[in-house]
Amino acid sequence: MNAIIGDVEDCIQATQRAIDVYGCRTIKLKVGLDSETDLQRVHSVAELLGASFPSEQIGIRIDANGRWSLEQATEVLHEMAELPIEYVEQPCRSESELLSLRRRIQIPIAVDESIRIDRLDSVKEFADLAILKVSPLGGIAETTRMAERIGLPVRISSALETSVGLSPSLLAAHELAPDAAAGLGTGALLRTDLVREPVVPLNGRIQVKRVEPDPSILASHAPRADLVSYWRARMEVAFESIAQPTRELVDMEG
Ligand SMILES: [Mg+2]
Repeated sequence: MNAIIGDVEDCIQATQRAIDVYGCRTIKLKVGLDSETDLQRVHSVAELLGASFPSEQIGIRIDANGRWSLEQATEVLHEMAELPIEYVEQPCRSESELLSLRRRIQIPIAVDESIRIDRLDSVKEFADLAILKVSPLGGIAETTRMAERIGLPVRISSALETSVGLSPSLLAAHELAPDAAAGLGTGALLRTDLVREPVVPLNGRIQVKRVEPDPSILASHAPRADLVSYWRARMEVAFESIAQPTRELVDMEG
């Protein structure tokens, strides 16, 4: 399981917590700030992981959310060449930039925002891995179909969702990428959850199981009546857009 560290977080504190509390050996770090800060943060994470685990067991994933230009990405990633980076997620936004970058760097490229439902066949031209999120895709069957159509190794990642949403993602990760660290440690970011035993890593792993929301916790989070109609309306709009054949996959800041 990888722990995720956002770009506003103190990465030293967050990495230490991911190691000490959750036993995570793989860290996913948001990048795309200024290059000096990015480098410093990746170095710090590498150092902390290296102090706790053998080098062959640690991994760093970096996610730029498409914030780098081709030149910026080339420069920063060359400077990171010696660091234990497993892959860089969405370094640039466009397919053409990703294509060019792939010829310039050794670090594997993973994509999520660039995956388009109408262009699944082309993903393997500009990427080495695909990051898929089960909840926005509509479930395990949809995710499996998408993985097959893309034809690349996948990593299953979560949106910011409760244990109820994480549970099917765990099943999908177990099915589609059983030997890889999944990006499903986001339950640790929530203050409250809908179950008595939240789906969070222990010794870097999460047990694959189905969970049901706890009725009493659910009742304590009952939404106001006006919010119910707001969310119903949003879901209707979302459903309409999902029905479009050319929809883009929704990346919920993952
Ligand atoms: Mg991402």
